Amino acid sequence: MTIGLLKGTNSWGHIGWVTVYCRVCGRRLSLTGQKPGAARKVEVVYYCPKCAEKYEAYFCAADARALKYRCPFCGGRLEIASPLPAPQR
Ligand SMILES: [Zn+2]
Ligand SMILES: [Zn+2]
Repeated sequence: MTIGLLKGTNSWGHIGWVTVYCRVCGRRLSLTGQKPGAARKVEVVYYCPKCAEKYEAYFCAADARALKYRCPFCGGRLEIASPLPAPQR
């Protein structure tokens, strides 16, 4: 058995502040950076559940839209990663 099962389980580090970079434009995106009370502008971050760990497939809302919400790596559907990525089922 050489399957790297559950290898990425801890890749989020400590929960509370996750910063990723848009794969297209390189802009910094905060997944959990919205502070309560000061969240005047909530930024939606999209990601590919399949490629997020492998390719850091995160996208800002504008680029996700330009990609028609399709992952450029696998062609799968992008999902909303903000404010927190959905736990793996
Ligand atoms: Zn972008
Ligand atoms: Zn993908």
